[in-house]
Amino acid sequence: MKRINSKYLHTGTRWLTDASLILNAEGRIEKVCPQHEADHLPHRYEEEWEAPLVIPGCVNTHSHAFQVMLRPTTGQPQHFHDWVERFLYPLVETLNEEQIYASALLAFSEMLRGGMTTVGEFFYVHNLADGTSSRQRHAQAVIEAARDVGLRIVLIRALYDQASKPGQQRFYESADQALSQTAELAKHYSRIDGVSVLPAPHSLHGASRALIEGAAELAQQLKSPWHIHLAEQQSDIAFAQERYGHRPLQCLEAWGILSEATTLVHGIWLDEDDRALMARRKAALAYNPQTNMALGDGIARIPDLLSRGVRIALGTDANLTSELFGEARLTEYLQRVQQLQMGQIPDVRVLFRMLNVNGGPILAQSVGQLEPGYYADVLLLDAEHPSLWPALDAPQPETALLNQLIFSMVPQEAIQTVIVGGREVVQQGETLLLDRQAIRRRLAQARQA
Ligand SMILES: [Zn+2]
Repeated sequence: MKRINSKYLHTGTRWLTDASLILNAEGRIEKVCPQHEADHLPHRYEEEWEAPLVIPGCVNTHSHAFQVMLRPTTGQPQHFHDWVERFLYPLVETLNEEQIYASALLAFSEMLRGGMTTVGEFFYVHNLADGTSSRQRHAQAVIEAARDVGLRIVLIRALYDQASKPGQQRFYESADQALSQTAELAKHYSRIDGVSVLPAPHSLHGASRALIEGAAELAQQLKSPWHIHLAEQQSDIAFAQERYGHRPLQCLEAWGILSEATTLVHGIWLDEDDRALMARRKAALAYNPQTNMALGDGIARIPDLLSRGVRIALGTDANLTSELFGEARLTEYLQRVQQLQMGQIPDVRVLFRMLNVNGGPILAQSVGQLEPGYYADVLLLDAEHPSLWPALDAPQPETALLNQLIFSMVPQEAIQTVIVGGREVVQQGETLLLDRQAIRRRLAQARQA
């Protein structure tokens, strides 16, 4: 048994003061109770933490870890297709297994330092440079990187059977192969703690109708959600109209596969009918505001989707930076800039749940809440960090703290300790299982490989 004590503890849905979390040997939360009650429990604790402020780990619902390799060229692309053609595909064409592993180490270690404890890694570089299958080795390299730094990973395995350009040869599999490889990978990791796999037809342009339908069916067999990039760029609408005669979301509806199990990545160019349909079918959204800004994608109608009851969680997508609090901040600020009004998502608790609570079901994981039965994925914060001042002295510290966590905190500095599954993986802001020098060496070696 282990124990965490805190003056202020947010479970994801409520504040508690002077509370304790009791963690069991499976790395889950056994009990949440007042500290004075925990003092009288008959347990012996092998580890005990104290922190003034404790919150759930953030759940990153959409990442492409290897894209950290594009950071040095962030300022150069002229538009989305220029970025894809002149930067993304050339990188993809030269990536090898060592680089896939090392770039994931960099992305994942930064995520941990920024307060993420689960990543949904949307992965699609399945083939070697000559276009033949890596036989799951690339996906496994990404999973190993997460395990090596201690991050919980859901490998969102992309299925991609539409390839006409050289870069796409790294992604392409026949529909049968994509489905069988995904099923095999999901089965392989179903017994391994901290790892799971769910299917994701890449997009309407990357996957055929038959493959998208097959992936939705596979998700049903696996009892898992499925993800798809949808309505990211305006050009996605013209593409879907031309190929299928419908707007993007209406395609999924026409094929009878839009459901509660569906998570749309982006969902920027949904019109009013689309948004009503999305709510009716209870589909969820993985929203990536920083990447959407960087790529010039646009602004999703978040307040409208929220008013319709759509579940929304956040992602770091291209991983230009790696912390989710900033993504929550941008979610609100983008609306303000668009509407020329403040207070677009007036209840800060709604933004806070996008960081943690909402991500759990979207990745089918018991994460994002500090409640019994959930994994003990926990952030211990340093109330002495100036970016959290003066919230603790405010008349209503609970609301003040949520505002500061989202709009002012410097996560990599204010988050002292990160615990994943009851195990400490970040201490004093540094990754414990692999330190930053080791990660830098792996990156340098990968460049030479
Ligand atoms: Zn993406």
